[in-house]
Amino acid sequence: MHLNIKPRYSVPKIIVFILSLSLNFPLVAQEYQTFKAQKGDGIYSVLKQNGYPYSEYINKFIELNKTNLGKDNALIIGKVYRLPLKNDSVATQPAKIQPKAKPRQEPVPEKTVNEIFGPAYREINIKSKELAGAIYYLESGHGGPDPGAMGSLNGHSLCEDEYAYDVTLRLARSLIERGATVYMIIRDPNDGIRDQQYLDPDKDEVCYPNSEIPLSQVARLKQSTDAVNALHAKNKKKFQRLVVIHVDSRDEKKNIDVFFYYDKRSNTGKRLANTLMQTFEKKYAMHQPNRGYSGSVSERNLYVIKNALTPAVFIELGNINHTRDQQRLIIPDNRQAIANWLRDGLIEDFKKSIK
Ligand SMILES: [Zn+2]
Repeated sequence: MHLNIKPRYSVPKIIVFILSLSLNFPLVAQEYQTFKAQKGDGIYSVLKQNGYPYSEYINKFIELNKTNLGKDNALIIGKVYRLPLKNDSVATQPAKIQPKAKPRQEPVPEKTVNEIFGPAYREINIKSKELAGAIYYLESGHGGPDPGAMGSLNGHSLCEDEYAYDVTLRLARSLIERGATVYMIIRDPNDGIRDQQYLDPDKDEVCYPNSEIPLSQVARLKQSTDAVNALHAKNKKKFQRLVVIHVDSRDEKKNIDVFFYYDKRSNTGKRLANTLMQTFEKKYAMHQPNRGYSGSVSERNLYVIKNALTPAVFIELGNINHTRDQQRLIIPDNRQAIANWLRDGLIEDFKKSIK
């Protein structure tokens, strides 16, 4: 059930209103309501303020106004936009633009189930609709025959693909909790989210939808990028982001923190990377004020983000050979914290894009 915001007219106003309507155009015709975009307006806020369920109407809105939208579907100040017709409305009552109404909280508690998260995490409660309409392709590095970078700790070997995968799964779940649509590009049929320090390496990961991962690096990168681009084509015109998650291996004396990379041709990718890093800076300042954060954002020539059609960010979660970075990876709560911070950064990025 969605409640519409209905303007409360006093009786005389209603009469005047009906009179003026019947003078101007026949009551039977379905008329589009229009509004002029003002500073701070975005598709999301305008739909919300007018009682449209965002996820149902975002694509109708874009379709209706595509010639007047700016980059990333931004509203352009001063331009006039049409609101979609509501399926159930008689359309004789103009939607009232309410300048600074608070966005409505969707009251619907919803649940969904996805086996990829494993028995303990398969059920997901949808906590909010903040990311309704957003589509994410999440790709963890390596997998299948390729474990990626390897480190070791207390006699255990740490494989990049397993740790990147666990963080990516946690991020996927937490985006779904906020109403997003998520595709896991690299998939493990039986790992799920694992609350252990040492994640046993295996080789049974596949690439979306269910393809065996080749050993050759070139073939592997092409496979996952093709998978993302095929999905991108299906979801044309919708809000989409690709998030690629790796763990680096460098000299063990280097403490490298979390790094964000974008492709030089993508301004949206650059803004996404910056938004994520700013979120990390804020989170570290809040939770570990004396720690200092030395991650950074930079452009980098990487096959996946260069060839993906979706705005993308490539993230390195740390140095698998460095003691402090290893703590970020092996402690399950830390992996969850990284996932939550990335989610908060992605929410920020989504808000910026629909303004
Ligand atoms: Zn890697």
